[in-house]
Amino acid sequence: MVEYNTIIIGAGISGISCAIYLKRAGIKTLILENDMPGGQLNKASVIENYPGYVSIGGTELSMMLLEQIQNYDVDLVYDDVSKIDYDKKIITVGDTKYSYKHLVFATGRRERTLELKNEEKWLGRGISLCATCDGALYKEKDVIVIGGGSSAVSEAIYLSNICHKVYLIYRGSNLRAEEILKERIERISNIEIIYEGIVSSYWVEDDKLNGVCLDNGMKIKASCVFLAIGHIPNSELFIGDKNSGYIKVNEAGETSINDVYACGDVIDKNVYQLITSSSEGVLVASSIIKKS
Ligand SMILES: Cc1cc2nc3c(=O)[nH]c(=O)nc-3n(C[C@H](O)[C@H](O)[C@H](O)COP(=O)(O)OP(=O)(O)OC[C@H]3O[C@@H](n4cnc5c(N)ncnc54)[C@H](O)[C@@H]3O)c2cc1C
Repeated sequence: MVEYNTIIIGAGISGISCAIYLKRAGIKTLILENDMPGGQLNKASVIENYPGYVSIGGTELSMMLLEQIQNYDVDLVYDDVSKIDYDKKIITVGDTKYSYKHLVFATGRRERTLELKNEEKWLGRGISLCATCDGALYKEKDVIVIGGGSSAVSEAIYLSNICHKVYLIYRGSNLRAEEILKERIERISNIEIIYEGIVSSYWVEDDKLNGVCLDNGMKIKASCVFLAIGHIPNSELFIGDKNSGYIKVNEAGETSINDVYACGDVIDKNVYQLITSSSEGVLVASSIIKKS
């Protein structure tokens, strides 16, 4: 059994912010991460709204976060947390058992998909969940982005610099994105916004993905379909109170389970951004420091 005061699940900006403050307070901390440090940040092409950085790439900021926890000697184990014994306060990862006094969910959220026929088959081969990751594969091609929020608009703008034409298909009549992004997208000549477009199926012919079909009968041809239609919180392992899957916390980041905290995009809140996720990680650290 490996003993820790605090175990944080997730090395996104919220988990890392929490770990920095805990380690500076001398608290033995472990982060468990099943993918890459930085989490969703790795999918953001450019960040322009995080104070202190006029403009910085998502992966670049992720690497700086990693360097920062390495400087503090935070233990970071790359593995998937699949089992938590809340009564005994033990997490099992593979053959290893870790005990904790405090547990932090900083597990973030993942992209929602349309759940239409053929989606699973073509994901990663013509259907993408990340323009920053896959955009370069579609240089000078026509592509589709589905969605109408800030992520969708940012992705469309990003792709417009690489691709020949970008169709942004949104089911509503007014984009939900930040004003600054709406103004920017309107000035880009190779983006066509299709309002009130409901995708009814993927357009597959002769075992080839051609684009999408809309419920009004229209077919839109493209080499790749990028989905940016919202998120699902990674909260399956949390057994306490939730709202639509998002973990409910108080101002101190405490959940309905004793000594279990949550921060960042996995919690039920209004603003899902780097700055809020980071500050929530710090609030959780402060609550743990007070109790340790
Ligand atoms: C394309 C895109 C662009 C964005 N642009 C901006 C922007 O310009 N400005 C801005 O402020 N915000 C932006 N955001 C939002 C911002 O990235 C998020 O709000 C922030 O990264 C959330 O951080 P987090 O630590 O809460 O969660 P995440 O970044 O999601 O990190 C959670 C981590 O937990 C890990 N994890 C999950 N489950 C487990 C498990 N069972 N075991 C182990 N590890 C697990 C995940 O692998 C992940 O690394 C953008 C997001 C996206 C997707």
